Amino acid sequence: MIYVITSQNTISKVVKLNLCSGCGTCAALCPKKAISMEIDETKGVYIAKIAKEKCTECQVCFAVCPGHGTDYNELNMEIFGRAPENILIGNYLNCYSGNSTNYDIRYNSSSGGLITQTLIFALEEGLIDGAIVTRMKKEKPFEPEPFIARTKEEIIEASGSKYCPVPLNVALEEALKIEGKFAIVGLPCHIDGLRKAEKVNKKIKQKIVLRLGIFCNHSPNFYATKTLLKKLKVEEKDVNKISYRGEGYPGMLKILSTKGKRNLVQSTSWSLIGSYFFYPNRCLCCSNGVCELADISFGDAWLPEMSEEKIGISVLISKTEFGDQLLNKMESKNQIRLNQLDSKKVVQSQEGMLYTKKKKTKAYKYLFGAVPENNNLLESDRIDFMLNLFPCLTVRVFSKPVFRKILHIIPTKVIWLYSAPYYYFMLKKAKRDFKRNNWTS
Ligand SMILES: Cc1cc2nc3c(=O)[nH]c(=O)nc-3n(C[C@H](O)[C@H](O)[C@H](O)COP(=O)(O)OP(=O)(O)OC[C@H]3O[C@@H](n4cnc5c(N)ncnc54)[C@H](O)[C@@H]3O)c2cc1C
Repeated sequence: MIYVITSQNTISKVVKLNLCSGCGTCAALCPKKAISMEIDETKGVYIAKIAKEKCTECQVCFAVCPGHGTDYNELNMEIFGRAPENILIGNYLNCYSGNSTNYDIRYNSSSGGLITQTLIFALEEGLIDGAIVTRMKKEKPFEPEPFIARTKEEIIEASGSKYCPVPLNVALEEALKIEGKFAIVGLPCHIDGLRKAEKVNKKIKQKIVLRLGIFCNHSPNFYATKTLLKKLKVEEKDVNKISYRGEGYPGMLKILSTKGKRNLVQSTSWSLIGSYFFYPNRCLCCSNGVCELADISFGDAWLPEMSEEKIGISVLISKTEFGDQLLNKMESKNQIRLNQLDSKKVVQSQEGMLYTKKKKTKAYKYLFGAVPENNNLLESDRIDFMLNLFPCLTVRVFSKPVFRKILHIIPTKVIWLYSAPYYYFMLKKAKRDFKRNNWTS
């Protein structure tokens, strides 16, 4: 155990050890309203900040914080009534591929538009009164804004992936105050925080009745988008709107300038945003790729047989009875199209991501000092250790502003090529290990 619960265990310790995921759960749950989520300019991520004069060291923040670790065994028993049957994707009832049957929703969302469609359906059926979702701020187009969407239009406005840090769970504070039942759409760190919070504040389970999870490799820090703009020679002050996905599948990153100019970002530039140079430390330490504790989780269908898809398609995992029934009801009302998928296909669609999430060797501890205490990991060997050194060293070095600046002058193709050998060997190892264990075909 790295942590022993003492009177000193507040999230200050988590922040100090660089383990804060910036999810915002502590800020919403703090009984003294002593915590705020602020952007740390050197790291380009949200960090929880405690106002010491208000803090009574009640430790609620530490109890709900997924940053220092999550007991997945315990939460799986509580939520699903059993230990995870598949270490890579956790407990599940069914796996599917699918999409919204509404062309516009499907075309303008990230993958198949299923999250947006599910929220609209839940709202129209009266299952929820609103949903905690994320849009980009109008006055600050680089910053995300978690909010409670109460209409179909607001749900659609929030569709699409935001590849930047999002302190989503701060919106729980409002949801707890107002009348009604809500859904939440979040990354694994958000849903893990929510699940931990359910144990501390029983009201949360009554208010948040539907948890839609997003598969997540990592949430790039704010420098990812800023570096891309530098490479495109677009001034930050001239940016009116950024949307990271949409207009078909897998979609385009679009930058709309105040002068009415529209930049579309192609795949090599796009891979800059997703590269290890912009990984927050805590994202690299994360071990939950497919949002294991959600009711339903959704991802991209990165499968060879779906590579020709041009409008939008997702893979999804139903985890709870409630989630699975909701999907089937939507299908019976022709709101979505679903095709049963073998869980091995879901693993195949996320091989690299799942390898990075589940294979954590001592390389992490050596290079980051502290690591979260998560118990949903795979055993690893010496080759994993060697492979781990690449992302850990890259993230460690490029978390320093001086090294990040070098990226402004290095051509994007070179940046892309830098990681290519690692991806090649990592994917080979992932395929071999997963096949050997019969997790993929
Ligand atoms: C940071 C990030 C990393 C991802 N990594 C992977 C991956 O490794 N593999 C993979 O297969 N898929 C990944 N995805 C998921 C994928 O991009 C789609 O979000 C997913 O397939 C759902 O598609 P959809 O069309 O149903 O969603 P949509 O209908 O477009 O709805 C998306 C919903 O997600 C919410 N949202 C968007 N961004 C965020 C955010 N950062 N935090 C919280 N809520 C958000 C929106 O408010 C909206 O409600 C990632 C998404 C994000 C945001």
